[in-house]
Amino acid sequence: MPFNILELNNELLTAIAGHLPVDDLKTFSIVCHRFAVIAHDDSTWREMLYNGFGVTYKLPDNTWKQQYERKCSDPQHNRICPHLGMVSRKTLEPYKAPYNNVIHRDPPRHNCATCGQNHYQSGLCLYIYQGNIRIRCKECAYRFHAMAPNRHGILLRIPVLQMYCFTCSRQLGEARGDESEEHYVDYLLESITQDSELGRQQLGKRRQCMFERELNVSEADRKSVLSSTPCFYFVDRMWLWAWFLRLCDGKLATEPITNKALEDEEGKLNCDARPRGGFTVAFSIVTPRLWNYLVKTYGLSGKAFQSNEVQGRPEYAEMWKAIEDWKLI
Ligand SMILES: [Zn+2]
Ligand SMILES: [Zn+2]
Repeated sequence: MPFNILELNNELLTAIAGHLPVDDLKTFSIVCHRFAVIAHDDSTWREMLYNGFGVTYKLPDNTWKQQYERKCSDPQHNRICPHLGMVSRKTLEPYKAPYNNVIHRDPPRHNCATCGQNHYQSGLCLYIYQGNIRIRCKECAYRFHAMAPNRHGILLRIPVLQMYCFTCSRQLGEARGDESEEHYVDYLLESITQDSELGRQQLGKRRQCMFERELNVSEADRKSVLSSTPCFYFVDRMWLWAWFLRLCDGKLATEPITNKALEDEEGKLNCDARPRGGFTVAFSIVTPRLWNYLVKTYGLSGKAFQSNEVQGRPEYAEMWKAIEDWKLI
C-alpha cells in the first residue's frame, strides 16, 4: 500500500512539522486545513525549539512560539542555556533531604563524598549531568568534570544557590542570561529549598542578590545616572566594589556604606576625590533610588554627599570635569 502522509495521526504530524525549518513550515501549513492547524499549534513550536536548539523551558506566560522567537533573536545563542533543560524539579526531588542536611550542617552529610573534607565555605555542590547527581566539593566537582569535559555538566553551589553550566561557561539565570533562563533557575531552586525555613531564607538571599545586581547595572556608574536624575549621590568606590563582588559570589554586603572615606577635615566632600581614582580617594556615582535602597538595607557610616551640593562650586571644578570626562559605559 502506498504511504499517505494524510493518514498519520496528529501527534506524528506534529513531530514531523517540529523538524521543519521555519520556511518549510509555512509551505507545510498551506497544504490543507489540518496541516495549517498543526503548523500553528504551540506544541509544534515546542518541538521546533527542542529540535533546533535543545531548549525545553520558557517563561510561564509566554507561548512556545514566543520562546522560539526569543531563542532566534539571541545572536550568540548564549543567553538561553539548552543544557539546563536536563535538570527538572523531578531530578532534584531526591536531593531535597541532602540539601537540607548540608545547609543545616548535619555532620555526617556535611563532607565531600570524594575527598571527605568539610568544604562548606568554599561550597559543597550538586554536580548534575544526564540525570545523575553527585554531591561534591567544588574542587572535586571540577576534577570530576575534567575527566569527561564533553558531558554537559551543571553545578549547583549549595551555600549560595548559584548554578553554573560548564558547556556555556557561565553562571545561569544571571545578568548575561535571558529572562526565561532566570525564571527556570529560580523555579528549580525554589523546589530544592522549600522544605525548610533556612532553605527558604537562602533562596530569599539569592533573590535579593539578583535584585541588587540588576540595580547595580542600571543605577550605578552609568551615563544615565548623570543625565536622567536631577542629582546623584557619591559612594565610596571601595565599598561599592566590595558590595558588587560579593553579589557576584552570591553574597550580600556585611558592612554599612563607608562614606567617611570621602570626607575632608571639615566634613565636606573631599574635593580631591575622583571617579575611579587609583590611590586617591575614589567614588562611584549612584541614582537616588539606589542610594536610598543601600542606606536602608546596609546603613551608612559617614555622610550623604549629593551632586547638587558641589556642582558649580569652584573648588569642585576639577572633580566635575573628571566626572564629565569619565568614560561611563
Ligand atoms: Zn549550558
Ligand atoms: Zn572534595
